[in-house]
Amino acid sequence: MTYTPMIQQYLTVKEAYKDAFVFFRLGDFYELFFDDALHASQLLEITLTSRDGGSKERIPMCGVPHHSAQGYIETLVQKGYKVAICEQTEDPKQAKGVVRREVVQLITPGTLTEGKTVDGRSNHFIASAEQIDNGFAYSYLDMATGEAIASTVTGDGRALLLQLQTYGIRELVVNEALAHDIAPLAEQVSIVISIEPDSELLPFELPPMLHASCTRLLRYIERTQMQALAHLQAFRYEQPTHYLAIDASSKRNLELIQSLRGKDKKGTLLWLLDETATAMGARKLKQWLHQPLATQTLIEERLQMVDDLLEQFFIRTELQSLLKQVYDLERLAGRVAMGSVGGRDLAQLRESLRQVPLIQQQLQEGTPMMQKLGDTLDLCEDVEQLLAAAITDHPPISIKEGDVIRDQYHMRLDELRHASRNGKDWLAQLEQQERERTGIKNLKISYNRVFGYYIEITKANIHLADLTRYERKQTLTNCERYITDELKEKEALILHAEEESLKLEYELFVALREQVKQYIPRLQELAATISELDVLISFAIVSEKYRFVRPTFHKGTALTIKEGRHPVVEKMLNKQMYVPNDCLLDEQENMMLITGPNMSGKSTYMRQVALITIMAQIGCFVPADEARLPITDQIFTRIGAADDLAQGQSTFMVEMLESQHAIVNATAHSLLLFDEIGRGTSTYDGMALAQAMMEYIHNEIGANTLFSTHYHELTALEQALTRLQNVHVTATEQEGKVVFLHKVKKGAADKSYGIHVAELAQLPEAIITRASALLQSFEQKDNGQVPVQTIQEDAAQLTLFEAEKPKAKSAQAAVIKKLQQANLITSTPMEAMNL
Ligand code: ADP
Repeated sequence: MTYTPMIQQYLTVKEAYKDAFVFFRLGDFYELFFDDALHASQLLEITLTSRDGGSKERIPMCGVPHHSAQGYIETLVQKGYKVAICEQTEDPKQAKGVVRREVVQLITPGTLTEGKTVDGRSNHFIASAEQIDNGFAYSYLDMATGEAIASTVTGDGRALLLQLQTYGIRELVVNEALAHDIAPLAEQVSIVISIEPDSELLPFELPPMLHASCTRLLRYIERTQMQALAHLQAFRYEQPTHYLAIDASSKRNLELIQSLRGKDKKGTLLWLLDETATAMGARKLKQWLHQPLATQTLIEERLQMVDDLLEQFFIRTELQSLLKQVYDLERLAGRVAMGSVGGRDLAQLRESLRQVPLIQQQLQEGTPMMQKLGDTLDLCEDVEQLLAAAITDHPPISIKEGDVIRDQYHMRLDELRHASRNGKDWLAQLEQQERERTGIKNLKISYNRVFGYYIEITKANIHLADLTRYERKQTLTNCERYITDELKEKEALILHAEEESLKLEYELFVALREQVKQYIPRLQELAATISELDVLISFAIVSEKYRFVRPTFHKGTALTIKEGRHPVVEKMLNKQMYVPNDCLLDEQENMMLITGPNMSGKSTYMRQVALITIMAQIGCFVPADEARLPITDQIFTRIGAADDLAQGQSTFMVEMLESQHAIVNATAHSLLLFDEIGRGTSTYDGMALAQAMMEYIHNEIGANTLFSTHYHELTALEQALTRLQNVHVTATEQEGKVVFLHKVKKGAADKSYGIHVAELAQLPEAIITRASALLQSFEQKDNGQVPVQTIQEDAAQLTLFEAEKPKAKSAQAAVIKKLQQANLITSTPMEAMNL
């Protein structure tokens, strides 16, 4: 098959970018061919056409205008595809044969950092990972802000992917072998896997186990972006032990950053805490929530600052309004580095920098700690001065249409502008001059496209023309046209002034951009300080708004929360009062078994303890009257909904996997929350497992643990496990309705609360009486070890049985009959099991 040279060129490019849509530049369009065209025309809903490409069959084709390509590219990339931008890299007029074309950028889900769909209040990370001894080393960076982080995670590929998913990571770069292993799981969590082959390791000031992952990531960025990225920061090592570790499913269960219902922020802790004024602050807050601290001194520093800011109301308010005028310094610095910065961006940078001295001034009027922070601020005055001198007050977005560079910044530019602006004036002046010099009253200066500007003299006056200076250009019937050196020179200036001034302005802008580039590290450092201040102010605001108190920490493991509240549930409650509750755990009693009817508030109570712990360790005040806390190293939760990776696994299996993860990793400094453990299996099983786990945690781990259960029987454990305390959440009746008091009290719940609730729900009298009698007989027979759910459970298993052996109908019928006849109430558990 012989294709035209252009299609052959296309195919060579496509060969190198098999996994991407190739946007092939043809004049004013980007065209897609063959399968790319078929696929993209559907995804983008654009017309599919075809073109002759030299072969018998016509080639499928579709295209988008280059000036509106950005939107289409974003659409594809947001859907998880990659787009290779193939540009014409030589002037078509100069090309011999096919114009040279090269891929200049590969845009991928992890490297897309600009556009309508990109939210500046979140980071957009791309990651890479490497298998290590008991887990993975991974690194991730944000191309827009230049932040780069490296860390490790223990566990399997699932743990890694879930971890990355919580950071909102869309793309993971790995080697071929690892890609093969984790691809199916990655697809489930919508993480695109990209392959970057092994290469010689780059040197980093990091623990060696992180080098491979960092190298791979940088190599991939280099290969796809094809330009130097001056804003990429050195990788920061986040050593897991320096932070409060919260695994991915716990982050979800506790609704720290994403709500369980969806991607929505509403109803999350982030939503409650985010009063930040800048996008940088919003991103920082998210990072802090992902990684609460585990070092007391660092936590105290943040808390002290929040305290100071709370105290200094006027300064805080003033600071917040100044921060609102600070643009996204980090992303602006990123754009400077990537050469995508525009005039308006630089004006925003200047505007932001103008706030910094004012921020400093405010801080210097505050507490010693605020003064210290103020002193450390780098005002970056030189950048501000540079931009003030160079950039106009209101530059347009585009840098090719002029009005970006200020007058009196550059002499030649001033001349050019003067010439183009004043060209007409000047000509009028010259006309006047020439009239005076020659004495020709009707001498005029005109313009045509062939000769440009010329002096026109009528036949009658030709003899007066100053031929020492005038050069004849054209003779018409009634006049002669001349040019002069001066006119020619000025003409060149006027005609090209506009064009040249635009060109020069662009060059000056590029040079300015290069100059600003040198300041990127300083701008980034300033951005870091400002974003932290922004978050701390946000903490002060919410602490005041929601009446939070400063927590205190101590070296032990005791946890004292007085009148604690779940801040998000409290905020969501309309008018209703939130019922505060204490939580007291200490070395003598560090496990709680929580009983109480459904909807009474067991789960809310457990979550509130975790949220208070997390809020305290990010340096925020907490919703309680008093909180005296240990430094917690890890939080594990086994709560509620099954996660995304549960496909193919039963809910119960996931429950067990999460329990295993908690039990294997927890230490005496961890916080464990187990909500309704063992619910997913039959009663005996579930209860046995729950009990065994509690015993194990009690005897082997000693972590602060909250356990909720509907197995009332477990409350008897209080006698055997010395550090276990029973508590229950109360409910009562008012005017025939169940009223949940949401109050946590000492001791186990009343055993018959279920029946009470049934009574309140006005179930027929007969059922209530019968249930009460049955309960009594259970108690007498079995020391509480009653298989309450057995009948139902067995029925479910029989259905399964039936499906497997459809022929054995009569045998089954016999079994069912036998089961139906069995008196489970009078039989012992052993008898029931044997049966
Ligand atoms: P459980 O885990 O016992 O089934 P939840 O913790 O899910 O119950 O709480 C059920 C509902 O009760 C919550 O959604 C909330 O609206 C309300 N609630 C829980 N605790 C409190 C409280 N302390 N004060 C006020 N309302 C509460």
